[in-house]
Parts: sequence; structure tokens; C-alpha cells
Amino acid sequence: MSKAHFGLIGLGVMGENLVLNAESNGFSSVVYNRTFSRTEEFLKGRAVGKQIQGAIDLKDFVSKLERPRRIFMMIKAGSPIDAVISQISPLLEEGDLLIDGGNSEFRDTERRVKELESKKFGYIGMGISGGAKGALEGPSMMPGGTKASYEAIESLVSKMAAQVEDGPCVTYIGQGGSGHFVKTVHNGIEYGIEQILAEAYDLLKRLYKKTPSEIADVFGTWNDTEELSSYLVEITEVCLRTKDPNTQDDLVEMIMDKAGQKGTGLWTVVSGLELGASVPTIYAALNARVMSSIKSERLHAESFIKFDPIILTDQYSNEDCASFLMDAVVLACIASYSQGMELLRRASSEYNYQLHMPSIAQIWKGGCIIRAKLLQRIQNAFNADPDIPNLLIDPWFANQINDRLPGLSKTASMAAMAGIPVPCITSTLDYIHSYRTSRLPQNLVQAMRDCFGSHTYQRIDKEGSFHTEWLD
Ligand code: NAP
Repeated sequence: MSKAHFGLIGLGVMGENLVLNAESNGFSSVVYNRTFSRTEEFLKGRAVGKQIQGAIDLKDFVSKLERPRRIFMMIKAGSPIDAVISQISPLLEEGDLLIDGGNSEFRDTERRVKELESKKFGYIGMGISGGAKGALEGPSMMPGGTKASYEAIESLVSKMAAQVEDGPCVTYIGQGGSGHFVKTVHNGIEYGIEQILAEAYDLLKRLYKKTPSEIADVFGTWNDTEELSSYLVEITEVCLRTKDPNTQDDLVEMIMDKAGQKGTGLWTVVSGLELGASVPTIYAALNARVMSSIKSERLHAESFIKFDPIILTDQYSNEDCASFLMDAVVLACIASYSQGMELLRRASSEYNYQLHMPSIAQIWKGGCIIRAKLLQRIQNAFNADPDIPNLLIDPWFANQINDRLPGLSKTASMAAMAGIPVPCITSTLDYIHSYRTSRLPQNLVQAMRDCFGSHTYQRIDKEGSFHTEWLD
């Protein structure tokens, strides 16, 4: 059999589907999985009749690849990647290229790029988004590493990626770990939007007393609007309409209210703090998952901490309440994207990634989990001003905020008075108000710091650094 165009290690959900995707685009492959039975199962199942060969071990694997070898690793992030690199490195030759398509921490990728490039191998850290279906039909791909390494896979990934009207959803992101950094932030934005939609569901259920199918109708109408049309709104409607096959009850109401938060969501928030980028809506989503995970404590606390709800919804018509809620959801989603983009901008300058912001918006328009019509507006905003400090001041986004801020405020107030937590919605309100307030109360914080610790302060009327003996 002739040598395969590329190789793939790791036949998990993503690996299997990516190989089938590449095959349907004319690329033959050889696959290897640590547990061989999985390889056998794949070869006897979905890979039958396709240009896909199996390998029993890594030696067999590399011998079946055309040179220079292009090898995707689609395995668990962390130490498994280092383990596979050290197992396969002795079998590689100069010019061969390893591509880590998993959710690796970007600093790990920085280190691996340096190590592998110094051995004259190429190394690409490539974030991939789209889940199983995206991997099969066309994901969004975020490759980082040297430009030369990217060029060696460009023909392959530009065919495999989702296609939108202005091109494939893949582009060269930048050097080092930039591809995995961009994927991390993509996932942080995803955390934000998932939580925002969950908060909307909770308000529609508990405040507006709607059933899951009525809530699904609301999400259906939102998905027809420019501001909210997106993959996540679309699948939320599907989740809300799905019945438990055994009982025919709403399946979503049978699911335990606990969500995990390790990995990319956490890394986004940590990076935000490290780089001085404000990401409160994304942080609120992460923290909401932390709170969800302490289920037994919450159950216990319910009997101790009481709150009599004050229902304000009767002051408004149903139509007004629905419109206020949509305002809140739109602005919180905008905040999630703008915080993510701001974090990317800061990382680009701090790590010298030279990220091209319009292209990042472009490759997120298709294939990935956060694809949404709004990304066209984000792309337009960065095309109009690549150095815009925050999307909130782009004219289209500023108009959205000016129109929808009253609705967001009313939704946050109604939720607060009803005792329903909506952390992404309320933190978005604080974020917007903080951003549009020219004088914040940190003058007093500075006074306190100087009072107890002689930290000094700056003045608004003259240059320099000042100290006062406050306690004398
Ligand atoms: P996964 O469950 O994360 O990983 C399973 C694969 O990793 C299996 O092939 C497993 O081999 C292999 N593996 C684990 N430890 C290994 C080790 N020490 N040495 C060699 N192989 C090892 O599968 P996945 O969901 O397809 O994800 C792959 C990567 O893509 C992950 O980084 C994930 O975070 C990322 N990702 C996943 C999705 C998604 O929707 N699932 C979306 C985007 C990105 P065995 O069969 O031998 O156990």
C-alpha cells in the first residue's frame, strides 16, 4: 500500500472524526491508538473501505507515512502529550512535523515548540473546536507554531476546516503557543455564553413560570435574530425540547445541576488576571460552575438562609419582560466576546503573538462552538479599527449597549429582588457601568493603602507620587 498523507495518534471522539473528515477530502492516513483494540474496532467499523490504515505500534506507524511526516496527536492534554512526544521522537527524521490538536495549556505548547524545533522537527499547537460533528464535517482550527510548519499542513487543514463565505475557518494564528492560547480564550467565551443561556432559562422557568417547551420557543425566536443567532442558542432549544425516552418527561429537568470547571475556562480567567484584562462575565461563568459543584452544601444552606422574594414582574407586560431579558442576554453575550477579544489583544502584545484580530473572528464564524452571527460584527469592528481597545466602543456595539442597558438593568433588578442568582448578567451590568464611568472610587482605595502601608498615591491636579501621614 502507498504511504499515507498523514498520521493520527488517538482514536477518541475527535481523532476518529478528524481522520474521516480528511479522508472525505482526499487525504489518506494511518492511525495509531495506545489501546490497539480501539484501532481494530475503528478499522472494522467506520473506516471500512476508506483510505485509512492501522498501525500496531509507533514504529509501524511512522514507516507507513510519506515524508516529511505530518502527525496529529488527538489525545488527552498534559503528560500524555509529553509521553507520546518522547516515545515517537527517536523514530522521527529532520523536517517531520508533530501537531497537537488537543486542549493543551499554551505554556506547555511554548515549551514543546522550542524543544522540538531545536531537534529540527516542526511542532504545531492547534486548538480545534466543533465537537464530534464539527470534527467530522468541518471544525474551526487555530494553529500556532512557525509559519514554515503551518505551511506544511495548510493544504490539509484548509480543506478539513469549516467553510464560510469568506474562506475556510483556519488561519495561521502566530508563533509558539498562540494557537492554544486562542483556543483557550474561545473556550472561556464558550463558558460565558453557556452560563448566560442557563441564567435566561432559570429566569424564564422560575420568574416567568414557563415550561421547558415554552422556554424552547423563546430560544427559537432568539435564534432568528442577528444578535443571538448562534450554535449555542440553537442547541439550547434542542436540549429543552428533548424528552426522557423512559418517562417522556423533559430530560433537562432530570439532569443533575453540577458542572466541572477545570482546564481552559480556568486558564482564561488566570490569564486575564495575569495580563490585566478584565474578564468578569467569563469569571462569573467559571464561578457559577464552582458553586454548582457544591450541591450538598447548597442543599444544606437552603434551610438556613431565607429570602422572601419580591416579585417586580407585575409592573411590566409579558412582552416588556421578554424584551428586557433579551436585552440582558444580548449584552452579556457581547460582554463575553469583548472580554475574550480584549484578553487576546493583551496577550498578543505581551507574548508578541501579533494576532490578527479580524481573522480570529473570521475563523470562529463557522465550525466552532461559539459560532454566531455576531462574529461578523466583531470582524467588521476589528477591520475598521484593528487597535480598538474594547469592542464596546465600536459604533455598532455602543448602539446595542445604549439601546439595551435599561433592559439589562431591569432584568438584573428583577432577578435580585426575586432571589435568583444571575452572575453573568449582573457582572455584565457592573462591567459596562465600570467601563463607562470616568471616575471610579479607587481614589479611596489608594488613600487607604497609603494610610496603612505608605504605598503613595498619584494626584489628579499635579504629577508625581505623594504620601500623607494620615493617622497623625
Ligand atoms: P480524550 O478522551 O480526551 O482522549 C482519548 C484518547 O487519548 C484515546 O485515544 C486515549 O487512548 C488517548 N490517551 C490518553 N492517555 C494517553 C497516553 N498517556 N498515551 C497515549 N494515548 C493516550 O479524547 P477526545 O475527546 O477525542 O479529545 C482529544 C483532545 O481533543 C483532548 O485534548 C480534548 O480536550 C480535545 N478536544 C475535545 C473535544 C471534544 O468535543 N471531545 C473538542 C475539542 C478539543 P486509549 O484508547 O488507549 O485510552
